[in-house]
Amino acid sequence: MTNIAFIGLGNMGHPMATNLLKAGHNLKVFDLAPQLVTSLEEMGAQGAQSAQDACRDVEVVISMLPAGKHVASLYLGDAGLLQTLDPSTLIIDSSTIDAETARDVHTACRERAIAMVDAPVSGGVAAAAAGSLTFMCGGDENSFERAKPVLSAMGQNIFHAGPDGAGQVAKMCNNMLLAIHMIGTSEALRLGLNNGLDPATLSEIMLASSGKNWSLEKYNPYPGVMETSPASNDYQPGFMVDLMTKDLTLAIDNAGNTGSQTPLGKMALALYQNKQKAGDGKRDFSSIIESLS
Ligand code: NAD
Repeated sequence: MTNIAFIGLGNMGHPMATNLLKAGHNLKVFDLAPQLVTSLEEMGAQGAQSAQDACRDVEVVISMLPAGKHVASLYLGDAGLLQTLDPSTLIIDSSTIDAETARDVHTACRERAIAMVDAPVSGGVAAAAAGSLTFMCGGDENSFERAKPVLSAMGQNIFHAGPDGAGQVAKMCNNMLLAIHMIGTSEALRLGLNNGLDPATLSEIMLASSGKNWSLEKYNPYPGVMETSPASNDYQPGFMVDLMTKDLTLAIDNAGNTGSQTPLGKMALALYQNKQKAGDGKRDFSSIIESLS
């Protein structure tokens, strides 16, 4: 049993914190939205008035925040948590953020001899609730080994991607590829449909052929082909267009900074930005098939 502070109890953080409680850990929780704190208190967590308050006398701090600027302001600067955290603390940041900010926090932690892993997740809200997330971790081996038992209460696959920031890099690479094969799958299905093929039959053929991929196998974007996919539920998320656009932006910005050529990633970002402009930001990302005629 570990004493843990959990900061950020939104769509992902709330179910992740719930699984830590179920696993028997002691939890202190904080979110800017007080009702989220109250909800976790009702499940046995100790509510806190601030992030500083939550992090008093804990062994591990976990954050699950929207973006890099939130993570930087939580940990860095004169008012940041690193000013007061005990050096024995382990920080696990599971937010999806830019690798540069993750590395800045790692560096500031190292200066204070505080252990840290960046540990973004793949799997979404359903996997967060089921405790079956995939964690992609960046940081040194010791910190990763310390994080593993805590992460195993929230996830099934826990990878050490490499040094500081490597978890964020793995996440952005994965999600850029996801966007590209979702668009490619949508194009192939639309082309087949425009030639009179049944999308279910075409899907079955491609699943037994070299076009097989995760979007086709687990998340078919054409309505009615797969009962459980968001396409069959009016594209209720799932994984929102807004979040895919955020993740693609992280990848394309990083590609610019590292001189990496990502022509398909850039096109994918433009298509998802258009979808946002059309007012579809809150729909599932597989609804990109609607942009194709
Ligand atoms: P969310 O907006 O639902 O939750 C974020 C929470 O952080 C909110 O409750 C907000 O009040 C809180 N918050 C913001 N600043 C804070 C601060 N300074 N102190 C305390 N609390 C603060 O977002 P989410 O869907 O839970 O996503 C969290 C992270 O996980 C994001 O980085 C997102 O990209 C990533 N992610 C989301 C999904 C998904 O399907 N939702 C999947 C994988 C990864």
